[in-house]
This record gives sequence, structure tokens and C-alpha cells, in this order.
Amino acid sequence: MKITLLGTGSFVNESEHAGPGCLLEINGKNILIDAGSGVQLRLAELGFDIGNLDYFFLTHYHPDHNADTTSILVRYKNLKRFYDPEFNKPLKLFGPLGISDFIESLYKIFAFEDFYNLNNELLEIKELHGQLNLSDFKVTSFDVEHIGTLSKAYRFEADGKIITISGDTVLCSGIKKAAKNADLFICDSSLSKGNKNPAHLTTEEIGKLCKETGVKKVVLTHFLPYAKNVDLLSEVKENFDGEVVLGKDLLELNL
Ligand SMILES: [Zn+2]
Ligand SMILES: [Zn+2]
Repeated sequence: MKITLLGTGSFVNESEHAGPGCLLEINGKNILIDAGSGVQLRLAELGFDIGNLDYFFLTHYHPDHNADTTSILVRYKNLKRFYDPEFNKPLKLFGPLGISDFIESLYKIFAFEDFYNLNNELLEIKELHGQLNLSDFKVTSFDVEHIGTLSKAYRFEADGKIITISGDTVLCSGIKKAAKNADLFICDSSLSKGNKNPAHLTTEEIGKLCKETGVKKVVLTHFLPYAKNVDLLSEVKENFDGEVVLGKDLLELNL
């Protein structure tokens, strides 16, 4: 398994932090998780062709995680229409409750309403609840709490290894189950110690969560500009003896 962080920022784009997104490679399959602003550009910087995507998972429907979703889907559908008539590999898109309505709404907003049904064989949209066993990997979705919106953490398992992606979450039972014994935990690290709010984890909570659930390595992401002068990594380490990595755009991690 290999994971590349495409965007380690949040709502506020900075040159070094695109919006949330990462590219996971498992047994030759390419899996995009979230598509914040700048994710498509980061994929281009990697030399990655959108047509090579196999799966696309959305953690939730907030705009910082979806600014590039429409353009990526339009690009994928256009591969057959404009570039390669033989192109027929479907992209499998998963998300929380309401995924089809969400995608259809995006097409309406961006005046691609007719396009929604065009080349629909190239896009398979499904809600994901619980576990999905595929030939190359297993993925389990967990409901997590995030200011009253439907949000998912995803746990990918293959070859005896576990990668968990938190999405946006506070400390809740869902994230504890998702992170259990993860070899790699890509974690929402929006808030420094003492700055608790109903949307995100604090560094103190991350440290305690990783210790309690037996995480081996945690990668901090979803940074906000205010934290530039805060040593988030040291704050997590105050409660966790495992490996802590400060995420950065285009960082590659292998398992
Ligand atoms: Zn977010
Ligand atoms: Zn959010």
C-alpha cells in the first residue's frame, strides 16, 4: 500500500497546503479520497492521469473536501467522449448517505445537468455503509461526528496492513473503531491543544486516541493557517509514544 497526501490544508488554501485529499494505491488500484481545492493540480504535479483512477471516496460533503470533485468527474467522463472512444473503465464513487443527490446537485449548479446522465456507465455511485470486500482490498466506513453533518472515516485493509483516514471528526466512538490498531492513521489535526470545538480533533485528543487505539503511526493533516506557529507534532507526542509525522502536500508513505 502506498498513500500520497495531495492536500494537507482545509478551507483556507495556501501555496503549500491544497484542500484535503489523498491518493491511495493498493495492489495496482488507484483510490482517491476527497478532492479539495488544488487536489486536481497536485495529481497533475504527480503526473497522474485521472483516467487511472479506479475508486473515489468522499468522507463528507463540505466544500473544502469537494471543491475539485465536479471537475474531476467531468474530466473522467470526458475521456471517452473526447479522447478515447474505447475508454470504458467505470469509476466507482462512494460516499455517505445522499451521494447520488449530492453529485446530481453539483452537475445542476455547474450547468452540467444534461451531462449527469451522459456516459453514466463510466460512473458507479453508491452509498457506503459498513464494510465492502473487494478482490484487492477491504474498506470499512465508520460514521463520525462532525458538526451535525454526515461524515465518514474510512479504514482500508490489504496484505495484513491497515490505513485509516479520519475525514473531519471530533473524538467519538466511530473514530475510535476506525483507528483501532491502524498501521497508518491520516488524522484531522485542525486544532491545537485547548482549542476544542464541535468540528475537529485537538492535538491532545489525537495523542490520547492514538495511544488508546494502538495506532502505530499517525500523520497530521487538515491544517489551518493559525497553527503555523504551533508545534502540533510535539503536542500529539505529549500523549503518544508512537511515530508522529507532520503531513505535507505530496508526501508519500509506504506500508
Ligand atoms: Zn474539512
Ligand atoms: Zn468538514
